[in-house]
Amino acid sequence: MLKGKVALVTGSTSGIGLGIARSLAKAGAGLVINGFGDAAEIAALTKALEEEFDVKVTYAAADVSKPEEVEAMIAQATSAHGSVDILVNNAGIQYTAAIQDFPIERWNAIIAINLSAAFLASRAVLPQMLERNWGRILNVASAHGLVASPHKSAYVAAKHGVVGLTKVTALETARTGVTCNAICPGWVLTPLVQKQIDDRAKAENIPVEQAKLELLSEKQPSLEFVTPEQLGGLAVFLCSEAADQLRGQAIAMDGGWTAQ
Ligand code: NAD
Repeated sequence: MLKGKVALVTGSTSGIGLGIARSLAKAGAGLVINGFGDAAEIAALTKALEEEFDVKVTYAAADVSKPEEVEAMIAQATSAHGSVDILVNNAGIQYTAAIQDFPIERWNAIIAINLSAAFLASRAVLPQMLERNWGRILNVASAHGLVASPHKSAYVAAKHGVVGLTKVTALETARTGVTCNAICPGWVLTPLVQKQIDDRAKAENIPVEQAKLELLSEKQPSLEFVTPEQLGGLAVFLCSEAADQLRGQAIAMDGGWTAQ
């Protein structure tokens, strides 16, 4: 279905980004992966993806908190593959603390990586998508793009911002073949969430398994984690023809979290 298209997924060396990248490659898209990690492991991952899905895969080392690196990443990906047709703004970080204790440096980093990078990458890629009159921008927001939780001021502000950015991008491209939507996952068991589970187990002096269940029971009625593969399936659908008129939506895949 996506043969001939090229997808750039930020933060795809791990977790949700990797799940989405794998699903897009399975559907035939060439890939540009991005994110931090050990150079040898990333090289092995790139090669493994190429072999498994028989598509061209390259790696862009950009730190998306740096505006000039985001622009260079889009330019580099375009010259390596000929185009970027699908942009998935996924890279994200988390930090939890009460507002009065929240380090300003962590606030700035979360806004830069979780929000501004999506704006900068969209800004850099839109001209070529509009020129070809086809494109997909998928912004990975969160259930926290729709509702809030205490101690996550920067994250919730950034993710609500991503939902707003998604709507504006969709309106500005409404009469074109370019669409933009946000994906809002509930809890997904990735390194980002494992850290929150480990912190909770430590703070409450309880086993990790109990902390995991507490985390789910608090928010996610299904009591099951969403998987990167399920989010990948949603991403592929959003890139399909069936989704041509799906524009500016924030689609929750959250085990019922935001239905409450
Ligand atoms: P993760 O920690 O497993 O992966 C994050 C990825 O982003 C990694 O590849 C990392 O290297 C990359 N990254 C971090 N900072 C970067 C930077 N400055 N430049 C480039 N890459 C950078 O996290 P995840 O859980 O897979 O999260 C992915 C996205 O999904 C984030 O936007 C997160 O907010 C969102 N999300 C996660 C959950 C969840 O439960 N895990 C829920 C809702 C939304």
